[in-house]
Amino acid sequence: MGLGKKRSTIREIFEYGNMRAKIVGRENIYDFSLGNPNVPAPSAVTDEINRLVATEAPEVLHGYTSAPGLDWVRQAMADSLNSRFGTAFRKENFYMTVGAAASICITLKAIACPGDEFVVPAPFFPEYRCWIENTVNCKCVVVPPDITSFQIDFDALEKSINEHTKAVIINSPNNPSGAVYSEETVKRLSSILTAAEKKYGHPVFLISDEPYREIVYDGFKTPFVTKYYKNTFVCYSFSKSLSMPGERIGYVLVPDEMQDFEDVFAAVCGAGRILGFVNAPSMFQRVAAACATMTSDIGIYQKNRDLLYDGLIAAGFSCVKPKGAFYMFPKALEADETAFCERAKKYDLLLVPGGDFGCPGHVRISYCVKTEMIERALPVFEKLAKEYR
Ligand code: PLP
Repeated sequence: MGLGKKRSTIREIFEYGNMRAKIVGRENIYDFSLGNPNVPAPSAVTDEINRLVATEAPEVLHGYTSAPGLDWVRQAMADSLNSRFGTAFRKENFYMTVGAAASICITLKAIACPGDEFVVPAPFFPEYRCWIENTVNCKCVVVPPDITSFQIDFDALEKSINEHTKAVIINSPNNPSGAVYSEETVKRLSSILTAAEKKYGHPVFLISDEPYREIVYDGFKTPFVTKYYKNTFVCYSFSKSLSMPGERIGYVLVPDEMQDFEDVFAAVCGAGRILGFVNAPSMFQRVAAACATMTSDIGIYQKNRDLLYDGLIAAGFSCVKPKGAFYMFPKALEADETAFCERAKKYDLLLVPGGDFGCPGHVRISYCVKTEMIERALPVFEKLAKEYR
């Protein structure tokens, strides 16, 4: 019965911005709350939608597909990864879903047993806690953040793993910090999990949540996690890379190397069914297949990052420079980041407190917004910072 009583803080701030926009005008609101990509989807997305509508029989285009998705779409997902990461996936490794949210819920449902614990290194996407505690009624174990780099605090991670640990959930490029895990981080994580599997005599899965995989800057290459750790689920979505979060399309990838692959993949299919997620949207399966290797214009996000980062540093903020995604996670200018966000609200500057991300003392700034809004907001950040000098 408690369901729905506690709303998402991010969504609440976003709704507050909408309410204020009606009073003072949209142009006077500096809304950095939501991760809704502002860069348009590549024109190939629109072209493919038009082509499908013009050429496909409606009863096929809008009809049910097989539960894990169309075979050739799943093969296109495999081909896209194989060509970019040198992997050898097959269509049988993919289950198409309605975005990363469904991918993660399905994965949790596929593996969770009563009494299991899921470990999440902070800072983390707040919905993880919601899904772990409600979709599968398990315990969410938070690993405190390494705020100097936003890589993983491995000493803290090792202390968080025990015989009840079913999986660790990682997210790189990260929401909210923008950190991208280095190869060294992924290797160390893999060796800790391998040691834990040996010690406890059961798989300790890695759930790699990767909706921002392609959004990286300065030529950085994201290590592809299945190459480092065999018991990895990849939860992906085209929400961010192709700027189509409203179309709800993604996948769960279960590699062949996964222990008991056949059983695990069957459990993913069963979980999709139990949660009512069979048959991801038919038209957008096709669009995703046609555009799987493309991205929206990442250069715009990089420009926004540079502008915002330089402006914040000049105003006296301290911040780990993001290498990917489209979030910045500076330290608040007072210990209580919620009080800081309330103060920012006086200027209609809408920031998200870090507490729900497991990282108090910080605030999230979502910069997938018009560059022009960042330009207008910088003097406002400066005014806010001045209050603390
Ligand atoms: N995981 C992370 C880290 C996210 O930031 C988001 C959305 O913002 C999701 C999962 C959910 O993605 P989707 O909209 O594809 O369900």
